Amino acid sequence: MTTPRSWDDSYTEELPPPWDIGRPQPAFVRLAEQGLLTGHVLDAGCGTGEHVLLAATHGATEATGVDLSPTAIGRARAKAADRGIQATFEVGDALNLDIPAGSITTVIDSGLFHVFSDEDRPGYVASLASVVESGGHVYLMCFSDRQPGTEGPRRIRQEELRAAFADGWTVDSITADTFEVGSFFEGNTVHAWLAVIERI
Ligand code: SAH
Repeated sequence: MTTPRSWDDSYTEELPPPWDIGRPQPAFVRLAEQGLLTGHVLDAGCGTGEHVLLAATHGATEATGVDLSPTAIGRARAKAADRGIQATFEVGDALNLDIPAGSITTVIDSGLFHVFSDEDRPGYVASLASVVESGGHVYLMCFSDRQPGTEGPRRIRQEELRAAFADGWTVDSITADTFEVGSFFEGNTVHAWLAVIERI
């Protein structure tokens, strides 16, 4: 995967970007089926919205997706309309969320954390901390350091997740999981970490 000129460009190519598989990641389907995507659910870096639509149909009282890419947000809105699902999609920056403080119960991060530089990570976690209510959860899936090679986003070690969420959060669990991707990777799956993180 080459680095896109901008995130929006990755959605305007002829082929969809490798992560945009037209269905939710199985890891998040499992969480939804366990009834964990509850309350007001925010998907940070929602892309074309599959996880927002998943949450909206699995018990979320409100489902919101935010992404930098206007093209991705446009597709997400069109999917919601086509499927008759009530959800909100906004172009926005996860580093500066324009959402009322403490109003989010559950955050989905499917492949956003791993795009940030070391410098941006604290700002991202602070942005989440400002919007997530006490006792709310972040479900975060990122590329794992068990994934060989350097293609695609940076690999993340468990300790990096624990360090990023050290203050104001409890890391409940980090488990090995997989991303399904459309191309590039052997077997079309990628080693991932799924972290469950609670706001204190
Ligand atoms: N969660 C989606 C997309 C993952 S790819 C899915 O599972 O399919 C990462 C996404 O994050 C891209 O859609 C990109 O446009 C978005 N993104 C990157 N930086 C962002 C930022 N600072 N704020 C919001 N979205 C961002």
